[in-house]
Amino acid sequence: MNAPLPTVLKQHVIDPEICIRCNTCEATCPVGAITHDSRNYVIDVATCNWCNACISPCPTGSIDNYRSVPAGRPYTLEEQFSWDELPAELSPDQLQAAVAESGGDVSALAAEPAAAPAADPSGETAFRSADWGATLPPWSAAHAYTNLYGPKAAQKTVTATVTGNVRVTEVGKDYDTHHIVLDFGAMPFPVLEGQSIGIIPPGTDASGKPHHARQYSIASPRNGERPGYNNLSLTIKRVLEDHAGKPVRGVASNYMCDLQVGDTVQVIGPFGTSFLMPNHPRSNIVMICTGTGSAPMRAMTEWRRRLRASGKFESGKLMLFFGARTQEELPYFGPLQNLPKDFIDINFAFSRTAGAPKRYVQDAMRERAADLAALLQDPNTCIYVCGLKSMEEGVVLALRDVAQQAGLSWDTIGAALKTEGRLHLETY
Ligand SMILES: Cc1cc2nc3c(=O)[nH]c(=O)nc-3n(C[C@H](O)[C@H](O)[C@H](O)COP(=O)(O)OP(=O)(O)OC[C@H]3O[C@@H](n4cnc5c(N)ncnc54)[C@H](O)[C@@H]3O)c2cc1C
Ligand code: SF4
Ligand code: SF4
Repeated sequence: MNAPLPTVLKQHVIDPEICIRCNTCEATCPVGAITHDSRNYVIDVATCNWCNACISPCPTGSIDNYRSVPAGRPYTLEEQFSWDELPAELSPDQLQAAVAESGGDVSALAAEPAAAPAADPSGETAFRSADWGATLPPWSAAHAYTNLYGPKAAQKTVTATVTGNVRVTEVGKDYDTHHIVLDFGAMPFPVLEGQSIGIIPPGTDASGKPHHARQYSIASPRNGERPGYNNLSLTIKRVLEDHAGKPVRGVASNYMCDLQVGDTVQVIGPFGTSFLMPNHPRSNIVMICTGTGSAPMRAMTEWRRRLRASGKFESGKLMLFFGARTQEELPYFGPLQNLPKDFIDINFAFSRTAGAPKRYVQDAMRERAADLAALLQDPNTCIYVCGLKSMEEGVVLALRDVAQQAGLSWDTIGAALKTEGRLHLETY
């Protein structure tokens, strides 16, 4: 006999007030239950199977919210898209009235706790790169402070002052990337390499509501862009066309790239508890990035460079795979070239160099298969992938192929990378 259908449902919802629209949950959800419009991220109650895969990767905790609703009348996607804040939890009387209104059996209410839909145990088999990404940091990562400033924190935002804004890609080209330094003065803002911050652009959007925060990876090490200063740097690309190539003027990226030294910016964060670097001696770091995905890689590289300069830390291998359309598009190309070869092993891949075949980061990785395979077998290796969403699948597949061609079991190595916090994916 089938179990009776629940009268009340515990509906999984996202708090729009603290969500920073980072897309992590949508990328993580194995069944495609999460979607978004230009304003909100929402969960389709009919698709969500309560696997909880999205909970720990969410940097703000906004996805860890639930509302008891009549099973016959959950919040629709349209309702969730319209929210500026979560609706209040219904009182027992309100819930009873709502159940009655939706045609549910009110007499079953007292005995029945709000139910979560049963998880679907039929695991899918298609390869999904996101399934291999870790949600825990490596064991030797330092403690990350998060959400010190934000809608639900004691202080909503912190004001930072721009102390530097330099274009780092060639002037006159259609791509325009800036290296921006923000100083927090006397306000505490402790960060680690791999974390990000939220920038709140001034003004309102087309519907008259305040702009939501945009997330930017920190490009400087934990002790500051300038060592010993309470500052950090960002690598921001001016968005002038959308993902389909249509001309647009990205709100936050243009605001940031146009800032002058001395201007102030409203910041929230920091965010991120897992994309953190290992701190134990002889730990290896493999960094794979495209475009502004170089920001966290710059931070990690620079921290290891400072440790090396101190003479007090024995680093493992650093290996970087850096992809761009052309050489001119690479932020920080010059300084990276100057790092000693025994410190970091740098591999570039250009996909649109005139007269040369297209080459992507995964092609460069396959060319270095022997070295990568050795690193994959070393439990002291942590791998970081950051940049364009479109690179993620190819990169994880390349890692799998490198392992398998070396006679290793990807299922074993991939599972260890994930559970030990050693493969991190951050694509946007
Ligand atoms: C974890 C994380 C880290 C990030 N780190 C960085 C970083 O270090 N540097 C950085 O520059 N950005 C980074 N981003 C992206 C950043 O948060 C913004 O999404 C980006 O700057 C665009 O914001 P905007 O306000 O300018 O554009 P919006 O006004 O939000 O968007 C305008 C239009 O452009 C499209 N669009 C948005 N972003 C892009 C894009 N990158 N390319 C093409 N079209 C786009 C939108 O879909 C929309 O149609 C990161 C995002 C995440 C989730
Ligand atoms: S709980 Fe699982 S199915 Fe539901 S939204 Fe989160 S990741 Fe998707
Ligand atoms: S902040 Fe959390 S809920 Fe919002 S988009 Fe990111 S992962 Fe999803």
